[in-house]
Amino acid sequence: MVSINDERLTAEVAVVGGGPAGLTAAIALAGAGVPTALIAAQTGGRDNRTTALFSSSVAALKAIGIWDACCAEAAPLRTLRIIDDTSRLWRAPEVRFDAGEIGLDAFGWNIENRILVAALEAHAQTLPDFVRVHDNAAAVDIDEDGVTIALAGGGAVKARVAVGADGRHSLCREAAGITTSGWSYPQTALTFNLRHARPHHDISTEFHTPEGPFTLVPLPGLRSSLVCVVAPAEAERLLALDVPARNAELERRSHALLGRIEAEPGHGAFPLAVETARRFAANRVALVGEAAHVIPPIGAQGLNLGLRDAATIAELVVDARRDGRDPGGDTVTARYDRRRRLDVTSRTLAVDLLNRTLLSDLLPVQGTRSLGLYLLSRVGPLRRLVMHEGVDPVAARPRLMRGEALA
Ligand SMILES: Cc1cc2nc3c(=O)[nH]c(=O)nc-3n(C[C@H](O)[C@H](O)[C@H](O)COP(=O)(O)OP(=O)(O)OC[C@H]3O[C@@H](n4cnc5c(N)ncnc54)[C@H](O)[C@@H]3O)c2cc1C
Repeated sequence: MVSINDERLTAEVAVVGGGPAGLTAAIALAGAGVPTALIAAQTGGRDNRTTALFSSSVAALKAIGIWDACCAEAAPLRTLRIIDDTSRLWRAPEVRFDAGEIGLDAFGWNIENRILVAALEAHAQTLPDFVRVHDNAAAVDIDEDGVTIALAGGGAVKARVAVGADGRHSLCREAAGITTSGWSYPQTALTFNLRHARPHHDISTEFHTPEGPFTLVPLPGLRSSLVCVVAPAEAERLLALDVPARNAELERRSHALLGRIEAEPGHGAFPLAVETARRFAANRVALVGEAAHVIPPIGAQGLNLGLRDAATIAELVVDARRDGRDPGGDTVTARYDRRRRLDVTSRTLAVDLLNRTLLSDLLPVQGTRSLGLYLLSRVGPLRRLVMHEGVDPVAARPRLMRGEALA
C-alpha cells in the first residue's frame, strides 16, 4: 500500500502526469499490485482531440479493465482510405485498407480523449494500490535508492522509480538529464468534431493535400473527428472565419463526402513537430507518451505508441519486483530503453517520410511517393504486411497488448 509519513507519501512508483499515457501506466501498475501514486493536478483530455486506438491498444485497455466502460462511445474503423488530393503531375491512386483483408473485424476504434480519460480516471480510483495526488510536481530529486518528487503545494512523494508522463515539456525528463532531438514542420494541425448529414460507414478517409493531410475519422452516429493539417497562416485564417463560413470551407475540403458538415463548438490547434528523447529511461526515470516522443498526427500513431510505453514499463516493473530486483535499477531502465527504441524510431521515420514527401515540390520525390502508394494499392502481400505492422507491430508486443494480465 502507499503510505503517508511526515508530509511525505511513499510508493513504489510515482507516475507524474495524468494524460492518457500516465493514467494507463498507473492503472497497469496498481492493478498488478504495485503501490503507485499518480501526481496530477488535473487529468488530460480537455482539448477536443480523439484517438484512433489500434486493436492491440484496445486489447491492453481490455486487459486493465477499462474498455467496457467506454467502448459504447467509440466507433469502429473498418476501412482506411488514402486519397491523393493534390493536382500534381504524378498523382497516386486511391489506397484502401480493409480490416477484413487481414482477418480483423476492425483496425481499431476512435474515441474522444475526454471519454477515454474519464474512464481511466474512474477505474484508477477503484484500485487499492492506487493513490491520486491532486498536485503538480515542482521538482524531482534523484538519489541512489529512489526519487523524491516535491509537490507544488508542499509535501513530497518518495518512490523507487518515477514514470515521467508529463508531456512535451517534461520535468522528469530534465531531472533525469535526458535531452531530446527533433525538428518542427511549417504546419499546424487543427482539430474539430463534426456532425454530418451522410453516414461514414466506419470508413476513415485521409485526403493528402499539398499542405498536409485532411483526415476524417468516424465517431458513433453521424459524427466524425477531423484533423486538418495546414500552413500556420492558413490555420489562423480558418480559425478567424465565422462559423457558417468555416463549416462551408470544411465541407469543400471534404469534397462533401459526408454531406452537410457542422463543426461542434471547440477546436484544437497543434504546431507539428518531432521530438524524441535520446534515452527513454535513465537515473530511475522512465518516460512514457509525449514526454518520450512527439510525432505529427499522421497515421494515428502517437498515443498507440504511448500506450505501448505504459504497458512495457508496467511489465518490466512487475517482473523486477517478482524476481526481487530493484524496479528503478539500471537493468530495468536499460531494458525499457532497448524495448521501446525500434518501435518509436521506425514509426517516427515513417510518419516523417510520409509528411515530407507530401510537402516536397520536387518531382522525383512526388513520383517516388506516388509509386509507393501505387504499389500499396496493387500488391496484396505488401498491403497486408503494412496493415499487420500498423495495428500490431511485431517488434513491440508487451503482454498487455496481447491481452494478458500482468499479475
Ligand atoms: C491533432 C492530433 C490528433 C491525434 N490523433 C491521434 C490518434 O488518432 N491516435 C493516436 O494514437 N494518437 C493521436 N495523437 C497523439 C495523442 O493525442 C498524444 O500522443 C497523447 O494525447 C499524449 O498523451 P500523454 O499522456 O503522453 O500526454 P498529455 O496528454 O500531454 O498529458 C501530459 C499531462 O502531464 C501533465 N503535467 C505536465 N507537467 C506536469 C507536472 N510538473 N506535474 C504533474 N503533471 C504534469 C499535463 O497537465 C498533462 O495532463 C494525436 C495528436 C494530435 C495533436
